[in-house]
Amino acid sequence: MDPTPADAPSQPPPNFYGLTRSLLAGRLAGHGLPPYRADQIYTWVYQKHHRSPSGMTNLPLALRERFGALCHLELPPVASLQGTRDGLTHKFVIGLTDGARVESVSMRTEKRLTFCVSSQVGCALKCTFCATGLMGLQRNLTSGEIVAQVVAMGDFHGWRDDRFNLVFMGMGEPLANYEPMMEAIHILRDPRGIDLGARRITVSTSGVVPQIRRLAEEGLPLGLAVSLHATTDALRERLVPLNRRWPLAELLPAAKEYGRRTGRRVTLEYTLLAGVNDGEDDAKRLGAIARDLPSKINIIPYNPVPGLEWKRPTPEAVDAFARTLWPIAPAVTVRHTQGGEIWAACGQLGGLSPEA
Ligand code: SAH
Ligand code: SF4
Repeated sequence: MDPTPADAPSQPPPNFYGLTRSLLAGRLAGHGLPPYRADQIYTWVYQKHHRSPSGMTNLPLALRERFGALCHLELPPVASLQGTRDGLTHKFVIGLTDGARVESVSMRTEKRLTFCVSSQVGCALKCTFCATGLMGLQRNLTSGEIVAQVVAMGDFHGWRDDRFNLVFMGMGEPLANYEPMMEAIHILRDPRGIDLGARRITVSTSGVVPQIRRLAEEGLPLGLAVSLHATTDALRERLVPLNRRWPLAELLPAAKEYGRRTGRRVTLEYTLLAGVNDGEDDAKRLGAIARDLPSKINIIPYNPVPGLEWKRPTPEAVDAFARTLWPIAPAVTVRHTQGGEIWAACGQLGGLSPEA
């Protein structure tokens, strides 16, 4: 394998996890190697879970020895890993090359294993009840940094589950980092790689309307979750400032169109805040919105964030809200909160720790 101009010293080799198979094949071609080597490398990394080229026995020795000129395979280090006492939820704090830290969460229920990944370090959108919003945006993640979160969590769980689900519900607004998110999805879906089904992936957005419309055009049955949280513009503007840019009259038709184009029911996420959006009228309006889309409702009782004044409703109030919805909405679930004790629940990712 000869060094090529593509490997000029000023260009460090790229992160493997950000390379689609065709990009990898292109780099191999630059070294005079055939495209099927990319298939082999994908199989070793994503299906046999090798994290070093030395054991990739069907690759020519010269390629294994000079692999570092092609790309680098090291995963970013897990700076801290915390698990809940029941062993079902783990929070991974991942240290990135520039010193930024990003958080990912794995959650196991009886039925399934779900990986929750971050798309940005922090978030610019500043929803008023979210720990990530309090941080502001530090930067976007690259596709490789998104894929690496999945690989790190899969390695931790030993890839023993034949399937897992993936949700973009960690730090950041995935649709504000559209291209890297989509590239990560393509890499994760590659049949020679992890082969994750599009139906197993859910993208959660606070309502970036043009990008919802763009996602609908991708021709993939990805799950879409819309963070609604309020049924009137007046209240939604207070909770989700992005509503000033794209109010409900624009968001709801875009969500409806997404459902129509993909054949998938959109999820409406509704963080329940005591005395703010948990009244009977709120439930009735939410039911009407959900019926019209059509969609399923996911109620998330507010998870406390230090320094914020919001309150979680009592279990009775959550129950009353859900009971008002059941007869009028197509499908309603209450999100069983996991990970609160390690600050890993929804909206709590923002550098918080049990000692904080
Ligand atoms: N930025 C995306 C995805 C990440 S947040 C989005 O906003 O959709 C995942 C979900 O948790 C969103 O519905 C978000 O509004 C919600 N959330 C944020 N802070 C929360 C909190 N403190 N308690 C409960 N849910 C929260
Ligand atoms: Fe950003 Fe989502 Fe948090 Fe809003 S809820 S600040 S969009 S991460």
